[in-house]
Amino acid sequence: MEINVTKSSMPDFEEYCNEIRELWESHWLTNMGTKHKELIEQLKSYMQVEGVDLVTNGHMALELSMQAMNLSGEVITTPFTFISTTHAIVRSGLTPVFCDIHPYDFTMDVSRIEELITDKTSAILPVHVYGNVCDVEQIRKIAEKHGLKVIYDAAHTFGVKYKGQGIGNFGDVSCFSFHATKVFHTIEGGAICYKDQAFGEVIKVMKDFGIYDEELVTETGPNAKMNEFCAAMGLCNLRHIDEEIAKRKKITERYRERLEGVEGIQLSPVQPDVVSNYAYFPVVFDEKLFGAGRDEVKERLAKEKIGARKYFYPLTSQAICYKDRYDVGKTPVAARVSQRVLTLPLYADLTLEETDRICDLILQCRKVVVK
Ligand SMILES: *Cc1c(COP(=O)(O)O)cnc(C)c1O
Repeated sequence: MEINVTKSSMPDFEEYCNEIRELWESHWLTNMGTKHKELIEQLKSYMQVEGVDLVTNGHMALELSMQAMNLSGEVITTPFTFISTTHAIVRSGLTPVFCDIHPYDFTMDVSRIEELITDKTSAILPVHVYGNVCDVEQIRKIAEKHGLKVIYDAAHTFGVKYKGQGIGNFGDVSCFSFHATKVFHTIEGGAICYKDQAFGEVIKVMKDFGIYDEELVTETGPNAKMNEFCAAMGLCNLRHIDEEIAKRKKITERYRERLEGVEGIQLSPVQPDVVSNYAYFPVVFDEKLFGAGRDEVKERLAKEKIGARKYFYPLTSQAICYKDRYDVGKTPVAARVSQRVLTLPLYADLTLEETDRICDLILQCRKVVVK
């Protein structure tokens, strides 16, 4: 592919070299070193949160959070997400219960949550999918009413603000991914944002094998510590994050100019009260109205070496390892969107010319069929 769906942002080589230079003096490469500490402090301020801890990846952020909360039974979640969300629930010994999504912003349809609550339900795990903010107020109300924990999969929402607050402030916990393909990255990495200091203390111990001190092991923890090289990459990338998001905004605006209002094309909404990070640009194609389906558009782009992706298809409930357990008919909106959605290339270095070329190709698909 000449243009991929995403391309990792990188600081200048020299900037990274300068950042890691002192590691050659200290020989302290992991286990909560100076880079790790510094990144936590900077993230607290950038993300406007009280508590944040760093881990090896976004997936472990989810697993550790559920383990630290000592959840049991069922967790209400969305099937319209990356497989990690569902795997994290199952690997924590819990049962995912799939809630349908909202047809406009693709987040969990909050009007369908309560009917899924049973006496086994212990938590709700919604996803701010594509960077779209969930109905956090309604979710909080439902959780309070039924005594449930709320864990947000915030993998797509680094830098997002809702009503002036950092997105990591909602729910009991928000889990972020700092994977190379995300808006902000540490090569591989993740973060857990929390308000409860006691919870934060458990995470801190748990991510290091549950070792409390030299002689005391208090939790059955994995190894989920972020190393110094990854933290150093984070420190460099954080210096440029605002520029990166501003560039993504320009590209997103161009996509909107070209594609908004085209019959048979549905775009992700511009949400009120949200400062976006422009993480993804999903497009839902209605084949009957547009004259070409999602798969056809994807193939047309692929011919020109442009890699759009079917995020998110199939639904996680339809993965081979879960398929027999779940009825896709119970989440019809998610099923429909997943059959029709295509996520277009979007990264800071994508040029407006390239964006226009992608739009031209998409719009040509329509003409070919209409003739
Ligand atoms: C990327 C992602 C994850 C997993 O994060 P990693 O850092 O790759 O482990 C989890 N959930 C969603 C929605 C993601 O996009």
